[in-house]
Amino acid sequence: MTARIIDGKAIAAELRTRVADEVARVQRTHGLTPGLAVVLVGNDPASQVYVRSKHKQTQAAGMASFEHVLPADVAHDELLALIGQLNRDARVHGILVQLPLPKSLDTETIINAIDPAKDVDGLHPNNAGRLAGGFAALSPCTPLGCIILTRSVHASLEGMNAIVIGRSNLVGRPLVQLLLNENATVTIAHSRSRDLAQLCARADLVYAAVGRPEMVRGDWIKPGATVIDVGINRLPGADGKDRLVGDVAFHEVSAVAGAITPVPGGVGQMTVACLLVNTLRAACAIHGWPKPAV
Ligand code: NDP
Repeated sequence: MTARIIDGKAIAAELRTRVADEVARVQRTHGLTPGLAVVLVGNDPASQVYVRSKHKQTQAAGMASFEHVLPADVAHDELLALIGQLNRDARVHGILVQLPLPKSLDTETIINAIDPAKDVDGLHPNNAGRLAGGFAALSPCTPLGCIILTRSVHASLEGMNAIVIGRSNLVGRPLVQLLLNENATVTIAHSRSRDLAQLCARADLVYAAVGRPEMVRGDWIKPGATVIDVGINRLPGADGKDRLVGDVAFHEVSAVAGAITPVPGGVGQMTVACLLVNTLRAACAIHGWPKPAV
């Protein structure tokens, strides 16, 4: 068997078009332009690339983009003051603080300072708790993207056996909650789990969010399963440039699975598109308007 490749690039492009259509409708109907503020502390090159991409895609969707770049040695209070100002700014409906923050800053305090209604990264405890309780919440973008990619293969996930490998607040845990909302049966695996291969063997849906290059092997996978690879790992390539690989051994697994996301071109493409979705949803929720059709 050769797995169907799930085209994250095309699915993300279609999602961005749908967001742009809804943004145009909100502008026509209510005269409001949804706005996203991104805060970058320091000059980590990878973070700079992500922030630039978010800025471009936000503008391309017709939304307002506000970028705040602060030096790595910014005082904690100064960052908190900026977040307070963005919380009060009526032009801003989504606030994202690019992670990781420099070690001198307390990430938890910073995230907790964001107005939960504008927390488009879905990391504020109010949103995490609401998601865990099965209530409406802003959910983290990468897990949202994983669900959309899975739904491009399966119209319904009801009753399917899913395994999520990884339990971080950013990916694994919220993904588990979203899968429960889809009525899947979920196994959560992590670094202390025993016999991952055996746990995977029963799964119709496999999500790898570990950060270990090509850890998930072909002989772990149930024939025909759908495999979503969240991992982004940089390995030195033969040409001296880094190459990106996922947490899944792509060639082996694609010989067994029914569908699989590539790295790059899979989950990574969805994260920013889902950030735009969350910003649009936050703008509508803040104003008490119905949920947008995306
Ligand atoms: P974290 O490091 O926060 O979490 C990794 C998780 O994997 C932990 O729960 C850890 O378990 C578990 N783990 C580690 N080693 C093993 C092992 N040998 N067997 C089973 N589980 C293991 O990572 P993130 O969740 O933030 O990210 C995971 C991956 O996804 C990374 O490659 C990251 O780059 C990528 N990523 C991609 C995004 C995208 O847009 N595509 C967005 C965010 C992340 P324990 O809890 O026990 O320590």
